[in-house]
Amino acid sequence: MSGTGEMIPPLVERIKATLVGLKMPRALEIVDTTVRRLERGELSALEAVDALLSEELSLRESRRVKTALVMARLSTIKTLSSFDFAFQPSLDRTRILALAELGFVDRCEVLHFLGPPGTGKSHLAVALGVEAVKAGRSVYFTTLADLVGTLARAEREGTLREKIRSFCRPALLIVDEIGYLPVVPGGGNLFFQLVNARYERGAMILTSNRGFAEWGEVFGDPVVATALLDRLLHHAVVVQIEGSSYRLRQHTALMPEHIRSKAALQAPPLAPPPRRRGRPPKNGGAHLGIA
Ligand code: ADP
Ligand code: MG
Repeated sequence: MSGTGEMIPPLVERIKATLVGLKMPRALEIVDTTVRRLERGELSALEAVDALLSEELSLRESRRVKTALVMARLSTIKTLSSFDFAFQPSLDRTRILALAELGFVDRCEVLHFLGPPGTGKSHLAVALGVEAVKAGRSVYFTTLADLVGTLARAEREGTLREKIRSFCRPALLIVDEIGYLPVVPGGGNLFFQLVNARYERGAMILTSNRGFAEWGEVFGDPVVATALLDRLLHHAVVVQIEGSSYRLRQHTALMPEHIRSKAALQAPPLAPPPRRRGRPPKNGGAHLGIA
């Protein structure tokens, strides 16, 4: 309640009632202070209108982002600003910041992060997902194991088509941790059905600690792996990280020599792009953007 009591002009009361009707809680909250600042000459009338509207908009925006991040299953702890590019010199900062402009999402491309454990693949995938949510795109984050588990359950329950359709809805689907766990039998086939359904219709970010040449082993089926890569490397951007683990950065001295050198040297090998149907790409595969 304002201390000015009955001195509040009826117009302000009407504005308040209107703000209630319009469901503008933040503007309602600051209307008294704004009017006081206006009366003291600290704000012009236009500045007062601007203050009310922009405060309300930023409240709505932060609520929208918060809800969308929960829906997307993304954490805001992993952001581009919290990523230390100096620690990972094999990564081109400018290139990652260009990816944050989200052109790849609009072009329905597939972005691959490849590299050994702890090199920031999941961090960057989440951070780009957060950027996409802020920019108003729908995003969903999952691991390959969870995704395959969900699809397998849907198949058992006879709802696979619906489930695949629901995974096609987000503009950006992030599938983390390809290669850490062996895919359950039939899982590669289910993942292929989803990838095929999203092909050229929605963007994806995939992270893997295994090179494409090893995907036959990861999916337990070289035929499925080839068909997957056929879709996943057409319109693709590949970011290869060749550094050491950020998780182990304080313990390098304690690490056994073979792990230390492995982390630094054994980035997953890149397979040559598989043959794909139709015309060969005009720019001879430069679209793959292999770093
Ligand atoms: P990966 O998915 O490649 O195994 P993560 O992205 O999970 O690795 O990174 C492991 C941990 O280290 C996470 O907590 C992540 O936030 C952090 N991390 C990795 N690289 C960096 C970096 N360059 N700057 C800041 N934090 C990093
Ligand atoms: Mg990871």
